[in-house]
Amino acid sequence: MDTIPANDATECAWCGRRIREGSAISVGSYGICVTCLGDRFGHPIENVSTLSDAEADQLPFGFTRLDSEGRVIAYNTQESALSGLPREGVLGKNFFRTIAPCTCVDEFEGTLQTMMASGQAQRRQIEFLFKFKHRTTMVEIAMSTDPRRGYATLLVRKAASEEIAV
Ligand SMILES: [Zn+2]
Repeated sequence: MDTIPANDATECAWCGRRIREGSAISVGSYGICVTCLGDRFGHPIENVSTLSDAEADQLPFGFTRLDSEGRVIAYNTQESALSGLPREGVLGKNFFRTIAPCTCVDEFEGTLQTMMASGQAQRRQIEFLFKFKHRTTMVEIAMSTDPRRGYATLLVRKAASEEIAV
């Protein structure tokens, strides 16, 4: 077991709020608070790095987990619905090169690489014009990293009702 400082409690990957006030347990990763999860969840998710595929499919937004090489190792049904890509066609492929080449820019891949290279669990939120298969959509993305496990997590939801025809 790791020794963990008391001020290092889990925070929400979306809003940054502490998930459990006064918690002394850190998992070196981010969770998701009840407010950001919406009505279907009565409890917070304490660690996005340990979410199972079945749990990820319950989330009200897109969820993608990448390994340290940028390969997709989890991809939920909401992300499939957004991207138009079936999970089976995405798993194991490089997210930046093969799945979503629009993310191969400093603002996205560069930011995530910097976060991973820091060796610390970090969180960033960006708005990004995402070129999905069938449409281009402005989305909000919460990036979080878990360097101990070598994971990066991308949470994705539509920014406004801003959809641009292609
Ligand atoms: Zn939150």
